[in-house]
Amino acid sequence: MDKTFRFIPRYTDEELHALQTKGLIWTVHQAEKSPQYRELFRKAGVSADDIRSLDDLQKLPTTDADDLRAGYPLPLCCVEPRDIVRIHSSSGTTGKRKILAYTAKDVLMFNTQMARCYEMAGLTPEDRMQIAVGYGLWTAGAGFQMGSEMFGLLTIPVGPGNLQIHLQMMEDMGTTCFGATASMSLLLAEEVERAGIRDRLKLRTIICGSEIRSEKMRLAIESKLGLKDSYDIGGMTEMYGPGTSIDCIYHTGLHYWADLFIIEFLDPITHKPVPEGQLGEMVVTSLVKEAAPLVRYRTHDLAYKVPGKCECGLNMPRHSAIMGRSDDMIIFRGVNIYPGQIAEVLAKHPEIGSEYQVQLSRDDKAIDHMTLTVERAANQTSDIDEGLARRIEEDMRLSLLVRLEVSITDPSTLPRTFSKSKRIVDNRQ
Ligand code: ZN
Repeated sequence: MDKTFRFIPRYTDEELHALQTKGLIWTVHQAEKSPQYRELFRKAGVSADDIRSLDDLQKLPTTDADDLRAGYPLPLCCVEPRDIVRIHSSSGTTGKRKILAYTAKDVLMFNTQMARCYEMAGLTPEDRMQIAVGYGLWTAGAGFQMGSEMFGLLTIPVGPGNLQIHLQMMEDMGTTCFGATASMSLLLAEEVERAGIRDRLKLRTIICGSEIRSEKMRLAIESKLGLKDSYDIGGMTEMYGPGTSIDCIYHTGLHYWADLFIIEFLDPITHKPVPEGQLGEMVVTSLVKEAAPLVRYRTHDLAYKVPGKCECGLNMPRHSAIMGRSDDMIIFRGVNIYPGQIAEVLAKHPEIGSEYQVQLSRDDKAIDHMTLTVERAANQTSDIDEGLARRIEEDMRLSLLVRLEVSITDPSTLPRTFSKSKRIVDNRQ
């Protein structure tokens, strides 16, 4: 990759180690400015002065979404309220929302991590960025927008929703890059294919955020739109927002900014580190975050650390795609199953589409049943259903070690949403 990096820093292992050590020590002292963190540290019998090296990280307690809710409306706040310039909030499914505060420097770092992602996706200031993610309390819109402007892209802030406006702006403005959820990208791709307007568009790159995207979904989006490439972007409100990680042209995991965050991969039950390459929960410690620093924050996102160095030459570690949520884990007949594992098996079958839905039920004898519904690909007929269903059942049995029933349905019949797809329906009450 011989090009000049404007936003992505290039560090040696030693430099990264030094930056992380310095950032960790600064962060625990910053955290101690908050009564909430002081109490958490006191309970764990640790103080900022005990943290002198990266090995001391394990002495610190883990934190969780509950700590954010407990400190409502400005949780874990380590600065004077007058130094806060913005807040963002993530979806409050139950009870109070999680609100995260930002200083001016935090906003700058947020913009910078997004600008780094645009650089990684091979964009130049000649590109035109159309944004389809949500604005407002959500971080996504602000991140995609401010990072795009920082990078120097012509920015088209359409927001989520109206597909027809998106298609019109895309054609009229000569949009070259589209930022959206994977579901929205798939909807767009299907509409472009249906309307036969691919040749009228200049779109060549898509950056997908905030959702698990299977290999199959990636291929469907790329082929229907005739893209040069597409990327998956990582992030969450607690880590400024989107842009904490993105894949490079080799697509062998998502590089994350190790000068901004330490990511541990822990067993969700025992909280002990898992070996590289093995699925664990990502637990994050921020290194330069001022208003609401993170100390061993449990993301509940499951991924693994990709072993070795990337071919692209960038010395930033990689995590795998998010394979699911530790809370989304399905316990079915005593076996732990993550949605990402199901998607992985489905990706091996070209005769089906990328959408799927899992239904869990319990019969009169208290025995659990799992039905997996998938869509037949548009170029197939229903004659294949019976044999195909049995082959997928067998593959699932071999890789998940459970028996389930597969049902094949017509293309485009499963629910598609603009937001995160609801793929697991659990009726086992
Ligand atoms: Zn790479």
